[in-house]
Amino acid sequence: MSEKLKLCPFCGGEATVCCSDWDSENYSPLPNTRYEVECNECLAGSDKYKTRELAIEAWNRRAERTGRWIGVADRLPEPGTNILVANAKTGSQYVSHRDLIWFNPERKAYVPTSYFKEFEFTHWMPLPEPPEVVLP
Ligand SMILES: [Zn+2]
Repeated sequence: MSEKLKLCPFCGGEATVCCSDWDSENYSPLPNTRYEVECNECLAGSDKYKTRELAIEAWNRRAERTGRWIGVADRLPEPGTNILVANAKTGSQYVSHRDLIWFNPERKAYVPTSYFKEFEFTHWMPLPEPPEVVLP
């Protein structure tokens, strides 16, 4: 597993993995230590986990928040995600899937599928999680 930590989601600072109980004589973590990732700049931290790997995975996992538009010039969605796309000039919106996004070179714009060539979108956001199915 990669040890590479993403930058802090709050301030963009670098982060490091640390552990709660450290044996300073032997320079090693104590048996029941918990690991967390902490931002070196603003000290924002992950929850505490049993292993270093879990702490890193949690820190690097960035659930996109729904309810906030993201410009296509800033960033495109992760593969495999359902998204809402919108055109800021016209106000029109459309539900699409990241894997269907297509860059139309003639229009120099992103479109939700090659089928909807005329619909250009300037922004996207992830859809909310579907409701949980409650079995009787
Ligand atoms: Zn930070």
